[in-house]
Amino acid sequence: MSKIATMLHLQQQLNDATNGKEWEEGVTAQGKIIDWRRCIYLECAELIESYPWKHWKNISAPADTENIKIEVVDIWHFVMSEVLRLNKNSEIEEIAANIKSLENFCAIEKEIEEIGENHFEQIATIEDFIKSVFNEASWEDLVEKYIGILAQSGLNLDSLYNLYIGKNILNQFRQDYGYKDGTYKKIWNGVEDNVVMQEILNTNPDITPYELYDTLKEQYEALD
Ligand code: MG
Ligand code: MG
Repeated sequence: MSKIATMLHLQQQLNDATNGKEWEEGVTAQGKIIDWRRCIYLECAELIESYPWKHWKNISAPADTENIKIEVVDIWHFVMSEVLRLNKNSEIEEIAANIKSLENFCAIEKEIEEIGENHFEQIATIEDFIKSVFNEASWEDLVEKYIGILAQSGLNLDSLYNLYIGKNILNQFRQDYGYKDGTYKKIWNGVEDNVVMQEILNTNPDITPYELYDTLKEQYEALD
């Protein structure tokens, strides 16, 4: 399965589990209205806040490059959700193929380009995306503009995949091993669980979510 299809599957499962099986109709199992576009533009605001855009405060502060990546991955959760909603009658493999055939998809199949110096150009790219969000743009337009943001944010498809599945699987793993009742051990032989996970991902960047889960499980169960 392609990385895009794998992420769409995980997002579908997460939304089914969190919001109920009918979430594509725009309402949760508890009857609460779902608005993915609002989620998207508010995460975009968090992304813009990671840049030193304020003309009256800390005017020569650097951009928070680590947080930029986190916010871009946050946005991806909601972009995928909106894409899944708008394509609720299509197979995930077919949606993934359509995403991969978008004109600028190749921009994220390249090596990572570090975040450039022209922050205002980058903010303009984000604001252009927000305009599409408010204009009820097609899902293709949304994904193309999102790809533009991804490519300028020090990320590519591989690093997006690692951050996305890492976050998803670790959350699942923690829940399965007692995070809610407080019995989960977050420090593994002196190392925090997310650092352990990052090491697994670094040595095996094409790992599937299931292999990642199993590797975590093996290491966790070997702790004394
Ligand atoms: Mg469903
Ligand atoms: Mg965020």
